[in-house]
Amino acid sequence: MKPDYERPVIQKLNTGLLNKFGSRTEQRPVKQIEGVAISDLMDQYGSPLFVISEKKIRQTYRRALKAFTMRYPKVQFAWSYKTNYLDAVCRVFHQEGSWAEVVSGFEYRKALGNGVPGNLIIFNGPDKSTEDLQMAVDNRSLIHIDHFDELYALIELLEGTEKRARVAIRVNMDTGVYPQWDRFGFNYESGEAWNAIMKIVTQKNLDLEGLHCHIGTYMLTPGAYSVATQKMCELAQATANRTGVKVKYIDMGGGFCSSNTLKGSYLQGVDVIPTFDDYAEAIVNTIMHFGFRPDELPLLILETGRALIDEAGSLLGTVLAAKRLSDGRRATILDIGVNILFTSFWYNHRISPAQEFTQHAEEMALYGPLCMNIDCIRESVSLPLLKRGDRVVIHEVGAYNMTQWMQFITLRPNVVMIDTNGKVHLIRKNETMESIVEQECLPDHLKDFTL
Ligand SMILES: *Cc1c(COP(=O)(O)O)cnc(C)c1O
Repeated sequence: MKPDYERPVIQKLNTGLLNKFGSRTEQRPVKQIEGVAISDLMDQYGSPLFVISEKKIRQTYRRALKAFTMRYPKVQFAWSYKTNYLDAVCRVFHQEGSWAEVVSGFEYRKALGNGVPGNLIIFNGPDKSTEDLQMAVDNRSLIHIDHFDELYALIELLEGTEKRARVAIRVNMDTGVYPQWDRFGFNYESGEAWNAIMKIVTQKNLDLEGLHCHIGTYMLTPGAYSVATQKMCELAQATANRTGVKVKYIDMGGGFCSSNTLKGSYLQGVDVIPTFDDYAEAIVNTIMHFGFRPDELPLLILETGRALIDEAGSLLGTVLAAKRLSDGRRATILDIGVNILFTSFWYNHRISPAQEFTQHAEEMALYGPLCMNIDCIRESVSLPLLKRGDRVVIHEVGAYNMTQWMQFITLRPNVVMIDTNGKVHLIRKNETMESIVEQECLPDHLKDFTL
């Protein structure tokens, strides 16, 4: 068979730009996900298309859980809804034993809708309306208080009733990683967290059940968790010593890295990120050495988000055009824009062609379909030659994209999940003209016009 014609390429030789692993991001085409052909997926569900592997979620979750349970007797994960709150995804985590961690009334209701018992929902975040607080009190949920105004609202709500609320405070602190996240919760070093604790324990209908922190996201240093755990333990001990209230749990939040590569990083994420074992070692060692009595060890709660779901998600797309920029660089335009791949602002996402290619590679910019200059998926990546109609796979997109995506210029695509038997399920339908317009209301006087 005669080989297909492929246009010639001219390559400028650059020195000193590559790291020691060279520039090729992917050596082989990726033609299937969990045994399902990418061409079949795209023929049936369109392009672009988000694909989630249920098997990968379960494997990753079990790996994380094991890293902690083999070191510590009392561990509980709570699924961070904002990381990916598609019901099918949440239910995989709940089937695995995860509680729910939510940060708004909307997410709270979504967790209830998924069948999570109210007492296993952790309600975080700065945005809890009085109505949300009432709902959380009535359901016996764990309310993680973010600021004094929320505390006062809760006290007011319970005034004159027999009801009790189960609460914790969110603590922010210096962990040696900057910029420090100090906009959420009560500060440790200034004594504000202590003030909040004193206010809570002197209220007759508030039960201080735990202490919570969430020190950042994509934390590259496990040592920051040692520092944070130490401060949380100290706060728990001071509370017990001075007020007699022994908190039942310490919640270390989320923040573990997924293996994605941050922009500007010299090495691939997979080569530099800590493992679940590294994080578990840092956290558990600190608690174990702190000096709790064995029968008084607190429950350790983790709200890990991105590290549990990123790898399970892929985004399939199609090449719309290959063109040349005025300075001679190559540009490839995909049907995947930053509106559906929000994380391309932070990550150098790994991208693979979904069909065979030759040995030639080119440095190129990858743009999305939006008529907006910011719509760039990769500023510069070395990939085999791509032409209109070719298909690509963007790897590790499971975290934050399916919640932060927006309807802008184009419509949001289908999301499918491949179950552990290789069966494909549609778990979120693509938007249509009708589903968008349905939300709009047109005033009568604007209904008619003549041009
Ligand atoms: C976002 C968030 C998480 C999850 O964070 P990751 O960095 O994705 O692990 C956990 N807890 C709270 C309070 C959050 O806001």
